[in-house]
Amino acid sequence: MAESLLNKFEYFVIHSTDSGTMDTEQVEAIKSSGKKTKGHAYILRDGTTVMVWPYTDGKVTATKAEQSNYFGSQAVGTMIHVELDTKSGTYPTEQQYIALAKSYIDASDANNLPYGTLIILTHKVVDWGIPNGHSDPTDIDLNFFYRMLNDAILARVKAPYCLPYGVSQERHDMKNRADYKESWPPNLSTKFTFDVIPKQQLKSALKAGGRK
Ligand SMILES: [Zn+2]
Repeated sequence: MAESLLNKFEYFVIHSTDSGTMDTEQVEAIKSSGKKTKGHAYILRDGTTVMVWPYTDGKVTATKAEQSNYFGSQAVGTMIHVELDTKSGTYPTEQQYIALAKSYIDASDANNLPYGTLIILTHKVVDWGIPNGHSDPTDIDLNFFYRMLNDAILARVKAPYCLPYGVSQERHDMKNRADYKESWPPNLSTKFTFDVIPKQQLKSALKAGGRK
């Protein structure tokens, strides 16, 4: 059986490096380290995409949510992780948005997933509610990216096809931990309350629900 068929990818997660000056050599160094905790691919400022692990690798992690003290195996293998090399306070370049759309298409193709299957998330919403969870990417125009991705997909396939979708700009822009709920699957709703759900209670509720 092909490796990709064993995976359970559901999400395409956008990160940022908070550097903005990375080059191919630096990404190659990450690759040589052999660590699977730094994502699948990096997109440099000029739009160059440097692969660290193939998009079919379900052992790559890059969030706190995937750690065993949070959602562990529920989350591991469900996410493709792509790092935009942007410094906080700086938006991605147009070449980076174009490369990000291509990365979504390549990741879908690599796993034989129809376009629109992978739900687009940001690291911030994946780690939502987790103490010291990350809040990258700090600066991104998701609506611009969705339009660009739509166009890129339309250029390849004839309608009808499934539209790609994901977390809204509004939800992403909310203050991290605003509703203090960590959640798996990630809560993409912009509605929130200040109720606190104890982690264990939430975990057992998820297990009982048996999403997978
Ligand atoms: Zn990240």
